[in-house]
Amino acid sequence: MASYVRGGTPLRDEEFRAIIKEIDRPRARYNMAAGIAYSRFLEGLKRGEILGTYCPSCRLVHIPPKIYCPYCFRYLSKWVRASDEGRVVTAVISYLSATLEKLEKPEIIGVIRLDVPGYRFTSYRFPGILHRICGASEEDVKTQRIFDARVKARWLPPDKRVGSITDIECFEVIWG
Ligand SMILES: [Zn+2]
Repeated sequence: MASYVRGGTPLRDEEFRAIIKEIDRPRARYNMAAGIAYSRFLEGLKRGEILGTYCPSCRLVHIPPKIYCPYCFRYLSKWVRASDEGRVVTAVISYLSATLEKLEKPEIIGVIRLDVPGYRFTSYRFPGILHRICGASEEDVKTQRIFDARVKARWLPPDKRVGSITDIECFEVIWG
């Protein structure tokens, strides 16, 4: 049986660097189908509309929309348009970007309970969206003044929208 013999000549640092190429930002691009519900949702954003699906069994509007209610397992075929206004349910100050870099200017991220004209929801089950909140300070978050504040979506101009959740730049606080 052949046995492995240790030895050989170690590479010098410059030889090693000539062979090994460092990639500090790998480009891992991929495509996937968004599916029936998300495709329609993303197309809606392009037109400045926030769409959801309604479950007649639990009376919840799902945003982003779902084709099956995750609570009732029912097929959902009724689409509704939510308002682009709502209230802040909860918010935090984030000092890191989505790619974990330290932010020069911290961002406020929160859950927005969206209004859907003609529909009522409980305070714990509602159509909501997680997004950036603008027009508020860190102090507004620390003092919890931001909680329950009214907000309205700030949209990118129509020609800049691509059918992404970032077509909404942020939800801007309307201080009353
Ligand atoms: Zn349901």
